Amino acid sequence: MAEERKDIVRKARRILVKVGSGVLTTSGGIDRKIIKNLADEIALLSRRGLQFVIVSSGAIASGRGRMEFSGSLKNLPQKQAAAAVGQRILMDVYSRAFEKHGIAVAQMLLTMSDLVDRRRYLNTRNTLSTLMEWKVIPIINENDTVSVEEIKFGDNDTLAAMMANIMEANLLINLTNTEGLYDRNPRRDSGRAVLIPLVKEITEEIESFTSSEADPSGTGGMKSKVMAARRVTAFGIPCIIAPGRRKGVLGDIFEGNETGTLFLPMKTHMTSKKYWIAYTLRSRGKLHIDDGAAAAVVEKGKSLLPSGIVGVEGDFAVGDPVTCVDAKGANIAKGLVNYSAADLEKIKGLKTSRIEQVLGSKPYDEVIHRDNMAVSKSARKTAGRDTSA
Ligand code: GLU
Repeated sequence: MAEERKDIVRKARRILVKVGSGVLTTSGGIDRKIIKNLADEIALLSRRGLQFVIVSSGAIASGRGRMEFSGSLKNLPQKQAAAAVGQRILMDVYSRAFEKHGIAVAQMLLTMSDLVDRRRYLNTRNTLSTLMEWKVIPIINENDTVSVEEIKFGDNDTLAAMMANIMEANLLINLTNTEGLYDRNPRRDSGRAVLIPLVKEITEEIESFTSSEADPSGTGGMKSKVMAARRVTAFGIPCIIAPGRRKGVLGDIFEGNETGTLFLPMKTHMTSKKYWIAYTLRSRGKLHIDDGAAAAVVEKGKSLLPSGIVGVEGDFAVGDPVTCVDAKGANIAKGLVNYSAADLEKIKGLKTSRIEQVLGSKPYDEVIHRDNMAVSKSARKTAGRDTSA
């Protein structure tokens, strides 16, 4: 265990550090000391050649502190206005803390819609890598002032997982206000809760240890942290959930000391594109497929052809992400379709050779090409074979 950990941190060059609101803020607003400590540690590690990207929460909480609101904010416009006030304060504190070390920081504010569009996703990636080349530290947050339900990441754990994937990080460090993952909620059962130092695989049992209960300034709770760990480990990136308020926590981690909970990366993991399809895109419809097609997709790693489709749901266009559902109603894969819902209604169940006759042209043999399809983990497990990569 100690060796696995040491090996992971020794190899890590690009690191995403996510800092939660619960770590950064007190009831009165932002805790400058915490940010100063983090900046000191990151500056020191950067001098050793490590590259850092930070996903930081705390905009809404520091805006609320600045406006001296006592209770919780009532509605979305209030939260968005508080974020507009607080994001500026947050960046100011980060910028001063890093300036002392001669390090420039950059602000990146993103919404989900910036990442679901492939072109904007690639632009985000290019900006991020240019900033890293320049040795500037990107500080990323959700663009809370414009985010509404449909375009929200929901919590910064999800945002951090996606950014870790985009920057091809070697490690995600999720700094939170507990010591790591416990086998039960330590807030409710502190006497019995035991810290788990290592998670080899995120099983149902591991998931059952978590709850979405968060402290008043945060969102998501441990559940969204473990979900984020699942997203990155599926992409081959290890994750450590660690206590963000503990002084010297990053130094400790990079010493290889047993701090927090380490989640090991999955052995077979997805390519960046499949990851984007599986975890970033929202499905626009469903294709119901027969047993033969389901087995071909899941067990044999084949593309989806029209002959295996028995039903079409939703109104999607060419290129949209669509979920494939088997005869039992289980989601087995998600992929980008080569045909619209209207055309698929006409060609479902037919042999590929008949597509041209029915539609007047045949741009593709496949309805979803294998390269544009991510098979779900549970389907692969049931089939006893891994065909994701
Ligand atoms: N984006 C929010 C903020 O900066 C925080 C979201 C979260 O904590 O997950 O206040």
